[in-house]
Amino acid sequence: WHYDTGTLRKFCDIWEKHGSGLIALHGQTGDIMFQGCTTENIQPAFDEFNELGFDMGGAGPAVRTGMSCVGPARCEHACYDTARAHRRVLNDFIDDIHRPALPYKFKFKFSGCTNDCMNSIQRSDFAILGTWRDDIQVDQTEVKNFVNTKGRDYVIDNVVTRCPTRALKLNADDTLAVDNRNCVKCMHCINVMTKALSPGKERGVTILVGGKRTLKIGDLFGTVVVPFMKLETDEDYDRLAELGRNIMEFWAENGLEHERCGEMVERIGLANFLEGLGLEPDPNMINHPRTNPFVRMDDWDEEVERLKQSKAG
Ligand code: SF4
Ligand code: SF4
Repeated sequence: WHYDTGTLRKFCDIWEKHGSGLIALHGQTGDIMFQGCTTENIQPAFDEFNELGFDMGGAGPAVRTGMSCVGPARCEHACYDTARAHRRVLNDFIDDIHRPALPYKFKFKFSGCTNDCMNSIQRSDFAILGTWRDDIQVDQTEVKNFVNTKGRDYVIDNVVTRCPTRALKLNADDTLAVDNRNCVKCMHCINVMTKALSPGKERGVTILVGGKRTLKIGDLFGTVVVPFMKLETDEDYDRLAELGRNIMEFWAENGLEHERCGEMVERIGLANFLEGLGLEPDPNMINHPRTNPFVRMDDWDEEVERLKQSKAG
């Protein structure tokens, strides 16, 4: 969507008539913000904006306007259809966007891969990131072309040694070996060698909850609550929307006033949050490495049995 100057002039006229005349272009979600208005002038201003064809809302303690990256329409890295997921999920929350009835704001952001062009990990309560769970696709002919053009030193200095988990090796014959078990899907090598490397074929999303800027406690990154789920069929997209609804409602019931979802998870503990939502704990949900060397062994055998069964199921 692009604003033309005619529309912007109409915005200015409406806001000078009913409000302060101050307009902020634009908020983190891409909304235009009209700031400063008396209570009695709000509805007439709303009505005039509506007549122009614009929807209002997406501010205050409500579901905020969602954001999604360009996705597969324009980006080869996309691991799912971001526009489809955005539309499917947000259409379920139209009332919650218009009526501020929550403890505080709640944001959905959709990034097609872990480059996370939408900053969803840092800036959304519910982040949906594209990823894959099989092997990175490698075109060894293109790897050799790349090495030929840039030189071995360049590839080693800018690709191999910058892999955060040392999962890459440049072989003597200028082919690339990928230790996929240790790849954490950071996208770095794929970003640099765009012709030679691409995400795997078995694609889906990772879901994180609780990213936010400073408020009651400092900035938080989202925490993984679903390490991998497929997003292909209508049912998959329905499941995503349902999960979003369940998480938002759990927070709406348990969050304190002016408390973001991530702050609530910090307060009640991730284990209680997962239990409340019926989500299985998973080693991928780790927050930071262990600092306590002691391990509790009570119920060990039962836990091992339970883990085996959940993996088999
Ligand atoms: S997040 Fe990934 S898929 Fe989306 S635009 Fe950025 S690089 Fe492309
Ligand atoms: S995607 Fe990241 S973690 Fe995986 S091999 Fe490439 S650089 Fe390493």
